[in-house]
Parts: sequence; C-alpha cells; structure tokens
Amino acid sequence: MASQVEALKYIPGTSLNVDGFRFLRPGARHFFLTHFHGDHTTGLTKGFDAGTIYCSPVTARLLIRDMGLRAGVVCPLSPHVTVEVGGVAVTPLPANHCPGAVMFLFVIPGDGGGRPPRTVLHTGDMRWDDGAMMAYPALRALGTLDTLVLDTTYCAPRWTFPPQEQVIQAAAEFVRREAARSAGRVLAVANSYHIGKVLYVVLGEVWGGQEGFQGKGGDMQGGRVGLQKVICVCPFPASEGNRR
Ligand SMILES: [Zn+2]
Repeated sequence: MASQVEALKYIPGTSLNVDGFRFLRPGARHFFLTHFHGDHTTGLTKGFDAGTIYCSPVTARLLIRDMGLRAGVVCPLSPHVTVEVGGVAVTPLPANHCPGAVMFLFVIPGDGGGRPPRTVLHTGDMRWDDGAMMAYPALRALGTLDTLVLDTTYCAPRWTFPPQEQVIQAAAEFVRREAARSAGRVLAVANSYHIGKVLYVVLGEVWGGQEGFQGKGGDMQGGRVGLQKVICVCPFPASEGNRR
C-alpha cells in the first residue's frame, strides 16, 4: 500500500506533491499522480480544484471518465518527455506497474548560491526491470540520484516474484488447460483491481483474438489486450476456444 506520510508526498524543498491528495498545503498547486490505484488517489475527489494534476495520458482519461474530474485540472504528460513544472524539470517514466503507471524524475535547479541541482526519483508503485529501465534515456543521463522515494508495495527483500512474462504464461497455460477440460462455453473470472493486473493480460493471451470475446470498457487503458472488466466469456465450445 502507498504510504500515508505527508513528508513522503512532497518533493523536498519544493511544493510539488506526489500522490498526496490527503495532504494539501497552502500554496501547493502542482500535483503529480503516479497511477490510478486507490491507495495513490487517496483524498482525491471529482470536485478537486486545488491546482493541476500531472499524470500519464491513460491516467488522465481515467480521472476524467471514471472519477469525473474536470478536464481543466488534469494535464497529461507523455512518458520520457521532460517538461518544466513550477521551475522544476519533470520527466515521467513508465513504471512497469498497471496501465498508465509512471514514475516521476525531478531535477530541481540549484539556488545560484552554490547549491547544485538536485535529482529526485519518486516511483509510486513500480516493478523494476533492469534491462528496460536502465535504457531509459533520462536515467542513463543521470550522474547522481540524490533522493529515491520508493512509495511502492512489496518493496522489501522478503518479496521476490518471478518475471511478469513468466507469470502471464503460467497463468495463461492454466486457463487453457482448464478450458480444454470443459465442455461447452467457458467463463473465466479474474478477481482484480479496477485497472491493471496480470489477469487481464492472461485472459487476452488465451482468447483476446477470438471473435465474440467479451471484455468491457477496453478503450480507457493501455494494457496489451484492451480489457477493463473482470469477467470475460469465450462464446466458443472449449475445444475451439482453446485453439490459439
Ligand atoms: Zn498500484
């Protein structure tokens, strides 16, 4: 779960707020949202008018269409593109978490009086991928990272998970096997969060290309198979539904 500690929600020395809608400060106008999971939007309501929320395009659409925020308070930022917000250079970087999830890299300018620029990476929830992430131009260009804020679930040595692709393939194989054992139509129910999570991808791996495959609300996110709802029905007999 995301921390609910005010000190972790503000970039040190600035009034830039990351996933900290519970902790509005006077004068804070720039809010960054790493992704749309509820533990990171805590305190945010559709009537939000305390400033501008910067996030990925996918998260922006969810904020507007799902949560009902005014489009005027949401500013989508393209991943890997650096912009200036409140005098600070900000680069969103894909977090390898749910659809739309990004980390934010902040480069805070020096004060002209000898204090050098400072770099802060706020991760939100993220799944580290050594090969992919170390190829991010903004990270490769970093000389030093001064502050790393790991506001991410499972950030403890006792949690070790297989690579995502391995999990997807194993779960997809399980669904295929069960479908092959069944007669008639097959219903797969994935119990998951509102967005993201591997099970959407799993169901798409098995049936996503089939005519008649049912998945609702697929236009709002950037997942591999365009699924949004947790219930997916393959209308074919199991033997056909398992053809892929
Ligand atoms: Zn999350």
